Amino acid sequence: MTDRYISKESLGTLITTVNKSGGRFVAPVLDARQVVYKEVASIEPVVDDYILPRNSYKEVAFPQTEVIYKYELNRAGVTIDPVEIEARETIVFGARPCEAASLASLNSVFTWDFIDETYTKREERVVVLSVGCINADDECFCTTVNLSPKSTTGSDVALYETDNGYIATPITDKGKAFVKTYSASFADTPKGEKRKELIDPEKIEGVDLTKLGETLAKTENYDNPKWAELTRKCCGCGACTYSCPTCHCFDITDEGTAFEGERRKNWDACQFDHFTLHASGHNPRDTQYKRYRNRFMCKFHIYPTKFNSTGCVGCGRCIRVCPVRLDITELMEAMSK
Ligand code: SF4
Ligand code: SF4
Repeated sequence: MTDRYISKESLGTLITTVNKSGGRFVAPVLDARQVVYKEVASIEPVVDDYILPRNSYKEVAFPQTEVIYKYELNRAGVTIDPVEIEARETIVFGARPCEAASLASLNSVFTWDFIDETYTKREERVVVLSVGCINADDECFCTTVNLSPKSTTGSDVALYETDNGYIATPITDKGKAFVKTYSASFADTPKGEKRKELIDPEKIEGVDLTKLGETLAKTENYDNPKWAELTRKCCGCGACTYSCPTCHCFDITDEGTAFEGERRKNWDACQFDHFTLHASGHNPRDTQYKRYRNRFMCKFHIYPTKFNSTGCVGCGRCIRVCPVRLDITELMEAMSK
């Protein structure tokens, strides 16, 4: 399929059409002076002057909290009522190419030894319309993890800004089908409409992913005093994990009484001290550096070796939100040596 064009006006029509057909349209909007992904019903709140929304759009397929089933204990026994998974067509507009690559990482976890349908059923209905970056900030480091504003991994349709709209390159079959279904919103590119130049963020010189992987693979480095030294200021707030597009930990809790209630799946974070706390009271990750080490190992050792994918897409969110300015790239550099 050849490139198509969507004007800003037609984008507005597309948003209305998707909503009218029962779908969700998620886009970057200004909320309490921050740009965040939110459901929109019209183009008015949508912004285009942003680096990266504060939250990750992983929550469209992996909600912060959800009921898996309801239970009731009565004289006859236990009754379990499964909850239907709401899997509406969901269009994510304005994803940055780094973040688009993250769904592949989440897919590898949620389909690894068990197909988690609470995730897969929603993810199958997500269409990602990425927008190539024309700006970056000091926290962006996609090129250091072998991605770039030109990357199309995870994008169903890659959009490139022009003066009055976007040039749309369908990438996946899902993206092609989307453009076909909503063909009324797409047109031939008008004369004079040219892609704005994409930014090319500089690679961090001291980071070498191969060496980093080798360092993490050596068990003798597991107790390297550098871990504690470099992560001492981490206060375990979990903001990095909640905002990270590839962090996927969750917990299951029963809420209600012993006789009736609901079982919920909730986001959790390996940065919390109770995350690995055993019923016996023993905690294998009993200090904060061990918890940070776990998150770091997950990104740069477990994901690449177990799933052949990256656990970090270089979006920089964890650096932006960290209250103590713990910068993951400093560890990447130190562990590359
Ligand atoms: S670890 Fe940090 S930079 Fe990497 S994907 Fe997660 S939030 Fe983005
Ligand atoms: S955001 Fe910063 S302080 Fe909070 S858990 Fe993550 S690294 Fe630690």
